[in-house]
Amino acid sequence: MTASLLSGKPLAKLIQQQATAQAKALAEEGSGPTLAVVVATEDSSTHWYVRSIERAAENAGIGCRIIDVGHDATEQVLIAVLKDLSAEPSVNGIILQTPLPPCVRTPELVKYISPEKDVDGANPLSLGLLAVGERAFAPATARAVVEMLDHFEIPVAGRNVVVVGRSTVVGKPLSLLLLQKDATTTVCHSKSGPLAKYTKAADVVVVAAGRTGLLTGTDVSEHSVVIDVGTNVLSDGSLAGDVDEASVRTVASALTPVPGGVGSVTTALLLLHTAEAARDQTRAARTPVLTP
Ligand code: NAP
Repeated sequence: MTASLLSGKPLAKLIQQQATAQAKALAEEGSGPTLAVVVATEDSSTHWYVRSIERAAENAGIGCRIIDVGHDATEQVLIAVLKDLSAEPSVNGIILQTPLPPCVRTPELVKYISPEKDVDGANPLSLGLLAVGERAFAPATARAVVEMLDHFEIPVAGRNVVVVGRSTVVGKPLSLLLLQKDATTTVCHSKSGPLAKYTKAADVVVVAAGRTGLLTGTDVSEHSVVIDVGTNVLSDGSLAGDVDEASVRTVASALTPVPGGVGSVTTALLLLHTAEAARDQTRAARTPVLTP
């Protein structure tokens, strides 16, 4: 068997079109959306990624402000920037881009992104709302996986889905989204032991571990669909996922490529979330406050 490759690009285009249409409607009403990206690193691949968000935003008619506070920024500086952006009416969405300086506590910082502008679901309040099934922005990567499954009509209700990785940005929120869709979800991590015990029994395997070649053809079964979230920069500067594509393709039924899979959908969803946030903020601002 040769697994079919599930490209994220057509879906990314559709989502980008939705974001563009929403941004245009808001701009016509006089309040076009704006995304702010806070950067505190010299890492070149991060700067490349942030520029790609900026270009995509520009194409969608969404303003994009890059706030580069420098790789030696303190926690106090970052908190002040996030507080200002959260209070600034012309900013609708905020992303705190990782990696951050080693001295800062990321879980402490993300609390300063106001939930209504938290377009990448970083504030623990957003994760909490997601856990109880309330409306909140999910981290864009986690939502991108679910949107890919929907787009390719891969059912998850009542099926075994294994998520490899339990981070707050991908694995945990994804497991919540999958539970909402009635999947029987297993989350594996670095202490789970040999992954094949879980992944071979899975209908869908999502790998988000940041380990090149973690999942090979011997770890999956013939009917399985494999979603590769990993983005690992190799020594030659190229990008690879967590899946050993050559061996997995000979066994599984479908696989997302890296690059060109989940990542492209993630960027488009960040823009859609920004447009949705702007729409909600505009509506809230117009709603009269009733006083007793
Ligand atoms: P992370 O915070 O480092 O978490 C990695 C997770 O993988 C942890 O839960 C870890 O387990 C688990 N893990 C590591 N080695 C493992 C192993 N040998 N067996 C089983 N589990 C293992 O990383 P992340 O931020 O979630 O990102 C994961 C990957 O997704 C990275 O490659 C990242 O670049 C990529 N990513 C892609 C996108 C996109 O848009 N495509 C967005 C975000 C992230 P423990 O908890 O036990 O340590």
